Amino acid sequence: MALIVQKFGGSSVADADRVNNVANRVVETARNGNHVVVVVSAQGDTTDDLIEKAVEINSNASKREMDMLLSSGEQISIALLAMAIEKLHHPVISLTGWQAGFKTNAEYSNSRISKIDTERIKSELDRNNIVVVAGFQGLNKYDDITTLGRGGSDTSAVALAAALNADKCEIYTDVDGVYTADPRIAPNARKLNEITYDEMLELASLGANVLHNRSVEMAKKYNVKLEVKSSFEKVDGTVVKEVADMEKMLIRGVTRDNDVARIAVIGVENTPGIAFKIFSALAKENINVDMILQSVGRNGNKDIAFTVTKNHMEKTLEILNDLKSVLSYNEVTCRDDLSKVSIVGAGMANNPGVASKMFEALFESDINIHMIATSEIKVSVLIKVDNAERAVQVIHDKFNL
Ligand code: ASP
Ligand code: MG
Repeated sequence: MALIVQKFGGSSVADADRVNNVANRVVETARNGNHVVVVVSAQGDTTDDLIEKAVEINSNASKREMDMLLSSGEQISIALLAMAIEKLHHPVISLTGWQAGFKTNAEYSNSRISKIDTERIKSELDRNNIVVVAGFQGLNKYDDITTLGRGGSDTSAVALAAALNADKCEIYTDVDGVYTADPRIAPNARKLNEITYDEMLELASLGANVLHNRSVEMAKKYNVKLEVKSSFEKVDGTVVKEVADMEKMLIRGVTRDNDVARIAVIGVENTPGIAFKIFSALAKENINVDMILQSVGRNGNKDIAFTVTKNHMEKTLEILNDLKSVLSYNEVTCRDDLSKVSIVGAGMANNPGVASKMFEALFESDINIHMIATSEIKVSVLIKVDNAERAVQVIHDKFNL
C-alpha cells in the first residue's frame, strides 16, 4: 500500500462545493488502495481576513497572539473536510498541527519545523483513517502555537511526506502545474512535465508563485518526490525532482519580479572592507540583498549597487545614511521603477551563449539593461518595469519555449 500526502491550498477549499470536491478526490485516492494524509490551508482569503480583523483592534499585536489567531483558519478547514469525507462513508480523522506532532523552533509567525512526532498519524493510518492535518502550524517548546510564514502549508505537507517516508507528495492548487512563463503574460507558455528542485527553487524565489520556497528546499534535502497539480482538472501536473528531463531545452522558464528596488552607493573608497560594512549592517536588520554589483575601481573610487525588496527600501536608505561617516561615499541613489526578469535552467551550465541569447532578445526589442546577475542556472537582468511583460514575451519566443 502506497502512502500519499496530498496538500490542498486555500482556493481549493474556498467553499462547500470545493470542500466536497476535495473530499471526493481524497476518498478516490484512498479507495484505489492508498494510505492518504491530507494537508489543508485556510479557506480562500481567510488568513488575510483574520489579519485585517487583528489590525482593526491592534496593529501592533504580538506575534504570539497573531499565531493564535491565524492558526484558527486551518482548523476550520480540517474539520469541514473531515465532515465532507464522513459523508462519503470513509473513516477519517482531522488533526491540528500539534495533534499531528509538528514541533517548531521558538520563533513565532515565521517558525521552522524542528521535528514531527508521527506516532499519532501512523496509528490513525493503521486504523484505516484518512488523516486530515492542518497546515501552516505547530507547537514550540513553550507549548505555544506557532505558524510557518505565509504560504507555509506547502512546507507542512513536504515535511510530513519526508517524516512519514511517503511515496509522494502532491500539491493541489488552482493552476495545473509549473509553466515556462506566466501564461497571462506569455500566452504560448507551456506546462512543464518535469523540473529539478534547483530550478524550482530559483523559480519560487523569483516570484513564480506556485510553491513555498522552504517546501522546495525541504523536498530537495529529503528527496521527496513532489508533484504540482490542479485540484479542479484531472490532468498530469509538473513533477519536481532531482534530475529532470531537459526535452532539448536550454532553459526551463522566464520570470519577472516587480518587487525590486535598486540602491547604488556612489564613490566609496577603493579599499578593503567596504562591502562588508554595508552588507553586515543590512544583515543585522534582516534585510535580504539580492543582486550585487561592484564597479571597477577608478581614481581610488568605486560604486556598489544592489537590490532589495521594495518594503526594505526606506530602511536600507536610513542605514546607509547612518553609515555616511564610515563609508564617506559621494551619494546614494535609489530606483523603484525596475523589474527583474530572469531565465532559469539547469541546461545553461554547460551551454555557452545562453546569456547572450537573452541579451540579444532584449536588444532586438530596444530594451535597456540596468544590471545583470548570473548563477550556474540563472541569468537575471534589471530593466524598466514598463518593459517587463514585453521582455518576458520576447525572451520566451527567442528560446522557443
Ligand atoms: N493560510 C496560510 C496563508 O494564507 C498558509 C497557506 O495558505 O499555506 O499564508
Ligand atoms: Mg500557497
